[in-house]
Amino acid sequence: MSLHGDYDSQNIFAKIIRGEAPCYKVYEDDDVLAFLDVFPQSFGHTLVIPKRAAARNLLEVDADSLTKVITVVQMLTKVLVAELQPAGVQVAQFNGAPAGQTVFHLHMHIVPRFEGEALAVHAGGKAEPEALAALQARIVARLAA
Ligand code: 5GP
Repeated sequence: MSLHGDYDSQNIFAKIIRGEAPCYKVYEDDDVLAFLDVFPQSFGHTLVIPKRAAARNLLEVDADSLTKVITVVQMLTKVLVAELQPAGVQVAQFNGAPAGQTVFHLHMHIVPRFEGEALAVHAGGKAEPEALAALQARIVARLAA
């Protein structure tokens, strides 16, 4: 059952943390990594993950890692709102396949919402590399400002 089970160290986010797979990184510290979702549900869709916790979901993550992750979620949500000026922003987290989880390393979604724009299909179409790189540069620049 996907809600329970062993942590698979070969999942894509574990590979990204180890540098074995690429990502459009927007923020990193000792404990937390944030990068763009390559199958974005909206413009600016960003994922925030713990680097040190081998946790599949909210049930497994230690409180310290969770605190660090949500603190970065809030910080990046403010940055995304400032840079992209959405009309709203959705923060989500899924546990188990029936709840919509497809990658089994705990992550939080930050999904800016724009007036009149429906969400794209979850984990649907892949964004263009050039568009992701341009967006990454905007967010990194805003963070540094
Ligand atoms: P979940 O469905 O588990 O809540 O979210 C997993 C998210 O990871 C999805 O939104 C999906 O688009 C995204 N995703 C899947 N594979 C990759 C990948 O290789 N790189 C990045 N950056 N995002 C991915």
